[in-house]
Amino acid sequence: MDKNILRTGKQVRPKTAVKGKRYRCATCHKRSPKPVKTPAPWYCPNCLDLQSTQATDRRD
Ligand SMILES: [Zn+2]
Repeated sequence: MDKNILRTGKQVRPKTAVKGKRYRCATCHKRSPKPVKTPAPWYCPNCLDLQSTQATDRRD
């Protein structure tokens, strides 16, 4: 028998990107123009603006 480390053989992949790596926008999956250091999810300015406007508009 082989080592009993990963029984499934699946590759383990973190759900969120590693810090320091380039993040993608959580909405449009566009690559950030610069490395983002904030924890995921990260939204590009475009989607962030869209979200904020939507959130405030949908309140009523
Ligand atoms: Zn976006």
